[in-house]
Amino acid sequence: MKCIICNYETVKKNVEYKESGVLLGNFSAYVCQKCGEIYFDEKTAEKIQNKSKQMGLFGLAKKAKVAEIGNSIAIRIPKEIAEFLKLKKGKEVMIFPESKNDLHINV
Ligand SMILES: [Zn+2]
Repeated sequence: MKCIICNYETVKKNVEYKESGVLLGNFSAYVCQKCGEIYFDEKTAEKIQNKSKQMGLFGLAKKAKVAEIGNSIAIRIPKEIAEFLKLKKGKEVMIFPESKNDLHINV
């Protein structure tokens, strides 16, 4: 198959797949030789999703709204994510922008 992004040839390879920084395993994929984009076939995508569900990672990405509290702003962290990260009230975290579009919270 050809890469959807750059139209270059892909090669079949085994790649490591991570979700929320947790390794789900090695999966067969088509990898673009130019831009490195990775494609999974339907069967593999299903396998990955099942593994993700099994490990409690599936659906952890959630939308959150920015709220205002006094002079600062707040973003609520959904319960599922807090539990996954073992975040509790009073815990200190490091927060820093990783780019203009990414906020990183190190717990
Ligand atoms: Zn490509």
